[in-house]
Amino acid sequence: MLNLESRSNLGLIQQIVETIDHDPKATYFGIGGGMDLLPQRFYEYLQQQGVQVYFNHMLTKLDRGTKTTLHFEAGKPQAGNTMLGHGVAAPPALHKTVAADEVILTIPFPAARVLDVNPAFSPLKRKTLRELNYNGATKVFLQFRDRFWETKHNIFGGQVITDLASRFIYFPSTDFGGKDGGVVISSFVWATEAAMWVAFTDESRVEYTLNDLAKIFGEGIRDSFVVGTSQSWSNDIYSTGEAAMLAAGQFMELEGYVQQAEDNIHFGGDATSFKIAWIEGAIEAGIRTALEI
Ligand SMILES: Cc1cc2nc3c(=O)[nH]c(=O)nc-3n(C[C@H](O)[C@H](O)[C@H](O)COP(=O)(O)OP(=O)(O)OC[C@H]3O[C@@H](n4cnc5c(N)ncnc54)[C@H](O)[C@@H]3O)c2cc1C
Repeated sequence: MLNLESRSNLGLIQQIVETIDHDPKATYFGIGGGMDLLPQRFYEYLQQQGVQVYFNHMLTKLDRGTKTTLHFEAGKPQAGNTMLGHGVAAPPALHKTVAADEVILTIPFPAARVLDVNPAFSPLKRKTLRELNYNGATKVFLQFRDRFWETKHNIFGGQVITDLASRFIYFPSTDFGGKDGGVVISSFVWATEAAMWVAFTDESRVEYTLNDLAKIFGEGIRDSFVVGTSQSWSNDIYSTGEAAMLAAGQFMELEGYVQQAEDNIHFGGDATSFKIAWIEGAIEAGIRTALEI
């Protein structure tokens, strides 16, 4: 009932963490105006400090040494990643190489596997980058002209759980009573359940989840349907899945090497924290890597 069935093949410790994190009594906070305000504020601060930030640069190669040289290519466009944030412009020209005294690498571990690293990382780091289990996630979004879930079913925010393929349906937790309709997350699933949607086209994900909603709330909802879209994070080369989720044995076998620096290359990102799959974990890892340096 907590969207944890698809997580049930994980290591016991990870399952306990997941159960605590997704306790129905847990309070979650969001940022009014959108979560991207958080990185945007960091970006503004960095600009004020004169720190150069380059967007659309894909790291492809690391030449390690007292100074490590990072090689970049132009970012590969992804269907889901084509929109740049407010005020964020593409760089005028690709900055192909950067030589650095210290490097903090925060890309997902599976994405790091295609990096050309010379000399190679230590065997146990390579094993960790190779084996650390990442789960997938898929979300399908349906826009409706009116908020039938509120007006007809008295649902204000929260989720519906079903054994239909959609599984977990989330309703907007803002703009209650709004007259401009709203967007329902008609399916938000992880791991094996998310992997299933990967095989489907965007169009059929929308179609199947709209059918599920019609089964639950009645055929009449189709009249108010406007448009739908979806995102499967396993299909995205920049995320390569939802998040690290430690499989059985991985706490014992790999955890010691997840955070381990390789000379002047430090590993950040939520996967290297104790709050895997949370923004809080990415911040925790950011503080740890800063302290390491
Ligand atoms: C579906 C979903 C729902 C979530 N819900 C929540 C939630 O409700 N609350 C919460 O706290 N957390 C949630 N999370 C988790 C949260 O998004 C992560 O914990 C957080 O984004 C991790 O930050 P990060 O900087 O470690 O990694 P990321 O945000 O993944 O950043 C990694 C960056 O590296 C870039 N990158 C990848 N490869 C390269 C390369 N070769 N060169 C250059 N750049 C590269 C990527 O483009 C990306 O910008 C959710 C995640 C998903 C997928």
